[in-house]
Amino acid sequence: MGRNAQLPAGYERFRAAAGTVPDDTGCGVLHVDMDAFYAAVELRERPELADRPVIVAGAGPRSVVLSANYPARRYGVRSAMPVGTARRLCPQAVWIPPNREAYREVSQGVMAIFRDLTPLVEPLSLDEAFLDVSGALRRLGSTPAGIGAHIRERVAGEHGITCSVGVAGAKFVAKLASGMAKPDGMVVVPVAETLDFLHPLPVSALWGVGRKTEENLRRHGLDTIADVARAPLDRLRRSLGTALGEHLHALAHGRDDRAVVPDAEEKSLGAEHTFDVDQYDRAVLDRQLLRLSERVAATLRARGLRGRTVSIKVRFADFRTITRARTLLAPTDVAREVHATAAALFDEAVSGGAVRLLGVRVEGLADGEAGEQLSFDAPAPRWRDAERAADVARSRFGAAAVRPASLLSPDEG
Ligand SMILES: [Mg+2]
Repeated sequence: MGRNAQLPAGYERFRAAAGTVPDDTGCGVLHVDMDAFYAAVELRERPELADRPVIVAGAGPRSVVLSANYPARRYGVRSAMPVGTARRLCPQAVWIPPNREAYREVSQGVMAIFRDLTPLVEPLSLDEAFLDVSGALRRLGSTPAGIGAHIRERVAGEHGITCSVGVAGAKFVAKLASGMAKPDGMVVVPVAETLDFLHPLPVSALWGVGRKTEENLRRHGLDTIADVARAPLDRLRRSLGTALGEHLHALAHGRDDRAVVPDAEEKSLGAEHTFDVDQYDRAVLDRQLLRLSERVAATLRARGLRGRTVSIKVRFADFRTITRARTLLAPTDVAREVHATAAALFDEAVSGGAVRLLGVRVEGLADGEAGEQLSFDAPAPRWRDAERAADVARSRFGAAAVRPASLLSPDEG
């Protein structure tokens, strides 16, 4: 799910092209992202459509766009857009229903290519992953950009789709770079030029800056990453809070210590509920999402795990089934955070209709301690403490002793 930003003016020098590759010494992190993944998989069997706008979406009137190829994007069509909007923007598009089995199969093949090269592969979703290649260079007799080029060739040759690669010294820089490389390109950010690369970009490019934080930063006159880098740390702490202020300060100076964390053994944990009677009522559905989130988070805590991606499954009365997923900034085992994400996904994906089944799942599991990271735009630690206390009470006195988390959390929206 790259941002698909175009390469900004003046950034052409970072592009790796035949014969000209920027200096990749010390660039141990690769971010690899398939281009218009679902659409690309579909086009393998229908190459005659490659130059026409192609949209992958479910059939229902409330479906959203799952994937759009680049010709469709030129009309403004984007993932997660309601199909009605996409139809208005691009009436001549070819519509293809999703085939999730095919996408999963290609995803496994692509991830296997990555793992051939390094054990340090951290998938973020079906179609993107971070790789730490710093320990593999000597064995492979290659460079980071050389490995990136090799990956692009193998993905195209073995799977018939293209991908884009960002190469950098830190995760968030590599992710920005792959977004700029799209489609079908590679962007290398030399370690020595990291700040030249970052500073002209808007603050929204910083990993973890959502819309709310962006507004806050802009209110304080901080429009570009350079503005954040120049702001005194004390001022950032005061206006953003200590954790967020310090974190953005570090990112703006190109510092990001987050390691590439390979996939844990247990890949996901989930809970589902089928209603006795199809449900329309938003409040009832939201309460169920909360209950499922509490169950999943309690299981995570009991097993000492945290997960980085929250997904929901919604089956409608007509058995049409959708899933949506979002990757969090830092892994979580907090029900409030799982629920907030699940509820947001639900609100974005479902505009009405009778629901038969709801599911909440947390994926990308990692050991709870290893997953401990700085988190921001995230619930205060007291929520984790409150939920842990509830775990203890529940184990001693049974579930009846504990009020639901919804009653423990009167303030946040
Ligand atoms: Mg992608």
